[in-house]
Amino acid sequence: MWYRFAHMDRNFVKAGDKVKKGQKIGTVGNGNGQYWAHLHLDVARHPITTEYPVRTKEEVRKNFYDPYSLGIDWQAMTPHLDDVGNLGYDWLQQIQTGGYHPGVDINASTGGNTDFGKPIYSPIDGEVTYEWRGNGKNGGWGNVIVIKKEDGADNCCDEADRLRAENNDLRKTIKDLDGRIRRAKKELG
Ligand SMILES: [Zn+2]
Repeated sequence: MWYRFAHMDRNFVKAGDKVKKGQKIGTVGNGNGQYWAHLHLDVARHPITTEYPVRTKEEVRKNFYDPYSLGIDWQAMTPHLDDVGNLGYDWLQQIQTGGYHPGVDINASTGGNTDFGKPIYSPIDGEVTYEWRGNGKNGGWGNVIVIKKEDGADNCCDEADRLRAENNDLRKTIKDLDGRIRRAKKELG
């Protein structure tokens, strides 16, 4: 899984860096002045930079995890922030440009941009696979960090996907067996 942090003011890690849970990775910004100070976090199923391939809810589900299902310690990640999903957009919410929001926005503002510079701590062990430092200038993205979560540290969602697939297979098997029983009964009269 690839954890993407956006709208940051400063990055304290760079591509290739190993990151430990609890390590300070950057500070809160606002994405080049377009919004009040907030942190955007989404978690992708594949390597990601700053593209936004989410025109439908199905595309979001296909490409991203539900951040609320990941057991993220929000308070440890952003102890000074509050109101996950309260500012801007929540998970799977339709956004103004017509797509859907693939992550959550976490409020860092009490009414302006006074909360710039407050720290963000990594919620996971992993490695930085992408970073953008543009003094906040990167479209509306601000500075961005992507951290690939260390393999094996948490398999919650892969396991859930596997169980869902297994469940579907079992349903299909039961349906097939039902059909065969019906046909056999018919033949026997
Ligand atoms: Zn956002």
